Amino acid sequence: MTIERDSTRHPLAIRNVTVSAVSRPTPHIARITLSGSELEGFISSGPTDHVKLFFPDPATGEIAAPALTEAGMTKPKGGAVISRDYTPLGFRSAGGQYELDIDFVVHGDEGPASAWAGHATVGDSLVVAGPRGSKLLPSGATHVILVADETALPASSRWINMLPTSVHITALFDVADESVESYFSAAQKARMSAEWFYRRDGLGQLDAALRALGEIGESTFIFLAGEASTLAPLRRYLRRELGLSKQQVTAEGYWRRGVTNADHHEPIDPTDPED
Ligand SMILES: Cc1cc2nc3c(=O)[nH]c(=O)nc-3n(C[C@H](O)[C@H](O)[C@H](O)COP(=O)(O)OP(=O)(O)OC[C@H]3O[C@@H](n4cnc5c(N)ncnc54)[C@H](O)[C@@H]3O)c2cc1C
Repeated sequence: MTIERDSTRHPLAIRNVTVSAVSRPTPHIARITLSGSELEGFISSGPTDHVKLFFPDPATGEIAAPALTEAGMTKPKGGAVISRDYTPLGFRSAGGQYELDIDFVVHGDEGPASAWAGHATVGDSLVVAGPRGSKLLPSGATHVILVADETALPASSRWINMLPTSVHITALFDVADESVESYFSAAQKARMSAEWFYRRDGLGQLDAALRALGEIGESTFIFLAGEASTLAPLRRYLRRELGLSKQQVTAEGYWRRGVTNADHHEPIDPTDPED
């Protein structure tokens, strides 16, 4: 059976929201709950959806973001536009209250998103745009392999929550250390066969683990997301050496070491003409 993944579009929405809770599921991941009436109608129906978050300019405290008017979308009126992509981890609505959870990897104060999340407190403001669309679960898949670093744990969480129990899940996680293993709930851990690799133990572990899975059947779908240059050889192995189809393999460079605001639409491997 061939694997297919349908897409759906959502109405464009740009929403002003306020931080209503902050917690730390792991020492270096800040879970920030965003609330506000403008979240009414928020839709995210795919495990790999993303929103664009607009952050305050640290110099002025002002958020420069586009706005939606009856005439369409207007550009920010001035100031530095600081935006980054994040995964909507969870959305709740009850009794006219709306809450959106986002998990931010806190990797220091060099990146404005990480710096904001690391210091965020209840009452802080943010602007959320999107998701513009959703890629739905792959139809025809009986097995899903997730390969993720910390930035793709929210997407992994969504895969685990959304996939029907008939689909087997194998996960290979590339993380800083064992403190990250507390990220998933006991129910989520029971749902998958997971292996954890710690970066302090050296490079190349993901590659070896992927190869150790052996043959990959045509009803297996593989989602890889995280640092772009780490993913390039993994995707090459799956597509070139194993000859898996494009429909079976999605590799998303969520960030690139040494690059500010890396564009995830850029090829993860610029030397690969098929990328
Ligand atoms: C579709 C999509 C979904 C994403 N979902 C999430 C999510 O749910 N949670 C999440 O945390 N991230 C997520 N990301 C990744 C996030 O957008 C990037 O990590 C982003 O660069 C962070 O912005 P920043 O301002 O902190 O750093 P930037 O200003 O972009 O970069 C500054 C420096 O920090 C480095 N850097 C960036 N990210 C990291 C990191 N994670 N660890 C170490 N160094 C880093 C850069 O290489 C650069 O040298 C997602 C990205 C995409 C494309």
